[in-house]
Amino acid sequence: TALIEVRDASVRYLSTGQTALSSTALTVAAGELTLVCGPSGCGKSTLLRLVNGLIPYSYRAAVTGEVLVDGRPVAGRTIRDISTVVGTMLQDPRKQVVGTTVRSEIAFGPENLGLPRAEIRRRIIEVAERVGISHLLERATAGLSGGELQMVAFAGVLVMRPKVVVVDEPLANLDPAASLRLMREVRRFVDEGGAAVVVEHRVEEILEFQPSQVLYMEDGRTRYQGPVDGFLRMA
Ligand code: ADP
Ligand code: ADP
Repeated sequence: TALIEVRDASVRYLSTGQTALSSTALTVAAGELTLVCGPSGCGKSTLLRLVNGLIPYSYRAAVTGEVLVDGRPVAGRTIRDISTVVGTMLQDPRKQVVGTTVRSEIAFGPENLGLPRAEIRRRIIEVAERVGISHLLERATAGLSGGELQMVAFAGVLVMRPKVVVVDEPLANLDPAASLRLMREVRRFVDEGGAAVVVEHRVEEILEFQPSQVLYMEDGRTRYQGPVDGFLRMA
């Protein structure tokens, strides 16, 4: 079954009356890396907010259509519940990371879930090792580089053991080496049975990570959804 299923979705922000998405569909299964691309303002972030619950939790909007995460509608579910299925990487790690130390940052989500202390400790060690930040655990987040902070944010996502990660513009705020590291981790997460939706207008760099499918949007509408080769023929 699909991990994410968006059917005929439309979104209009109530603050402005702006229609940001029209009749959009997206299906994501385990083992798939989906690239969502298109020009600025085409609705990419809105689509992410729809599948990670930020719409309607943080953004007031009128939504039609269906959004299913792990087989169940997002409507009426708590952010906490959705976050155990869909992990979100914001564009700017400085907006994502709230903990004062790296350890407390990674502990934040699991503590919120009410997991036992020993279990949280185990998960932190495991996830820090995985993304190569064990040596940073006792450091203050304020002193970290952008790349380090991004890895801390990703550890904070993985520690929740989500089935899908959504990544908003991984290339926007990072130097090339740090972007590469993050995308390698995302690819590895997918290869190990997860799934990822990566929003990025810099298409070429993401194609190196062999997306399973491309969703190309324009003006809130889907212009293409399918394999990479078809997308390249269209472009
Ligand atoms: P984020 O930081 O989540 O990526 P954006 O960078 O897209 O958000 O936008 C910054 C802020 O401006 C957000 O709070 C967003 O909701 C708001 N915003 C973006 N576009 C518009 C718009 N056209 N009208 C009103 N608010 C907007
Ligand atoms: P992208 O991520 O592709 O740049 P967005 O999803 O951010 O596109 O924006 C799609 C449309 O919705 C744009 O017209 C944008 O101005 C508008 N928009 C985005 N966020 C908000 C918001 N919080 N409130 C009102 N309008 C918004």
